[in-house]
Amino acid sequence: MRFAIIGAGLAGLTAAYEIHKADPAAHIDVLEAGERIGGKLFTVPFSSGPTDIGAEAFLAARSDALEFFQELGLGDSLVAPSGAKSQFFAGGTLQEFPAGGVMGIPATPPAGAADAPFEWTPGSDISVGALVRQQYGDEIVDSVVSSLLGGVYSSTADDLGLRASVPALAAALDQLAEAGQPVTLSAAVKAVEAQRAATKKTAETRPVFQTFKGGYAELYEALAEQCGADIHLDCFVSAITKSGAGFAIKGGGEGIYDRVILAVPAPTAAVLLRDLTPAAGNHLKAIKLASSAVVGMHFDDATGLPENSGVLVAVGEPGITAKAFTFSSKKWPHIAERGGALIRASFGRLGDEKTARMDEDALVDAALDDLQTITGFDGRAAGLSEIYVQRWFGGLPAYGVDHIQTVAAARAEIAVIPGLEAIGAWAGGVGVPAVIADARAAVQRLLQLPTNS
Ligand SMILES: Cc1cc2nc3c(=O)[nH]c(=O)nc-3n(C[C@H](O)[C@H](O)[C@H](O)COP(=O)(O)OP(=O)(O)OC[C@H]3O[C@@H](n4cnc5c(N)ncnc54)[C@H](O)[C@@H]3O)c2cc1C
Repeated sequence: MRFAIIGAGLAGLTAAYEIHKADPAAHIDVLEAGERIGGKLFTVPFSSGPTDIGAEAFLAARSDALEFFQELGLGDSLVAPSGAKSQFFAGGTLQEFPAGGVMGIPATPPAGAADAPFEWTPGSDISVGALVRQQYGDEIVDSVVSSLLGGVYSSTADDLGLRASVPALAAALDQLAEAGQPVTLSAAVKAVEAQRAATKKTAETRPVFQTFKGGYAELYEALAEQCGADIHLDCFVSAITKSGAGFAIKGGGEGIYDRVILAVPAPTAAVLLRDLTPAAGNHLKAIKLASSAVVGMHFDDATGLPENSGVLVAVGEPGITAKAFTFSSKKWPHIAERGGALIRASFGRLGDEKTARMDEDALVDAALDDLQTITGFDGRAAGLSEIYVQRWFGGLPAYGVDHIQTVAAARAEIAVIPGLEAIGAWAGGVGVPAVIADARAAVQRLLQLPTNS
């Protein structure tokens, strides 16, 4: 059986590994447009130690991901954060995030907000911003909620669908409506808090986030080494067509493939699907991407850096260009051991392409200026010894209103073509565990097909 996987990011490499595990005799070609593997996982060798300049952590609450990393032999590489908390910067001041609530949405409406009962159809969707503005007013959206969501999705609350980005809250609204109770935001947040408290009692305690001691390179290199695939770099795939019972690929690979997995961002998948299933491509075209830039900086002296894991910046904060800072050497004890301070500044949200395109010097200056304004830490005086600027054009898909239906509709069209799958951050969640789970599920679907289809 011959498999072609387009894209050597986390989704593509995971798929290759799973196929090889199930069928060591399978021929697997991974075709990657770039000159390196890993996609949005990228560990840069700073002289102080390996430094992640794309994803830098994963949600460790999911045991499936932890078991997967252990299976890859990476169990001893997993490390936990220090427990330092992040803060947010709004109205010109550094503030603590309110305790409790869901994604910064508190269970008690802010003073002056009525949170009147509203009509809610179970299963429907709304943007997080629209819902919270309507019930609690604008301030909390622009300060707390958008800064928290922006840290995960590079989008504001107004661009994110409730059902895809805060699913527990959407489910709580559904339950209130189905039970014939008054539907309010505060009642839904209280219901989610109660569910969490109940799960906490039974769940084993482990840190919410973890990472790899040597950076994400440990993961993508382990996958590449153990996936039994031929990985072809600088191989830009421009079209896929049906050829008899199999598939022909333009731009890379050789011969006809029995199975093809697209592991590329949604707009690229839309283009590559145009000959096979234009209808799926049309659905995927609706998924927007947010561009961002990350500036990684190492300083010789950490004196004066707050004892926090980082700062998220409110939307539209005057005079500030950055959207977030991660104080990696405060967040992760294994990085603190290296000495000095390691800080990541992040820029750019959905709809703002300009910031990610700023020239390198301007990005570094903005990172240092904003850091000093927000925390008082003078990076220029602290001995800036190493810098890495990485732009992530179209780095993250925006999980907008009705995203789940969009993905389901695209997948239904793709399912009509036996032997074809499309996976990646746009499909089952942007986080590393979600991308892995989605890739593994797609491989299981392919492996269940009769061999002659
Ligand atoms: C700045 C940033 C920070 C993040 N932080 C975190 C975090 O801390 N924790 C977390 O869980 N997640 C985080 N994420 C999300 C996570 O990193 C991604 O969702 C995940 O890595 C995406 O994997 P993927 O394989 O779906 O896509 P990608 O990594 O985009 O891989 C797709 C691959 O396909 C290739 N490709 C594209 N077009 C073609 C073509 N035509 N032919 C051949 N190859 C092609 C690309 O070059 C790329 O290598 C972050 C993302 C970004 C951008």
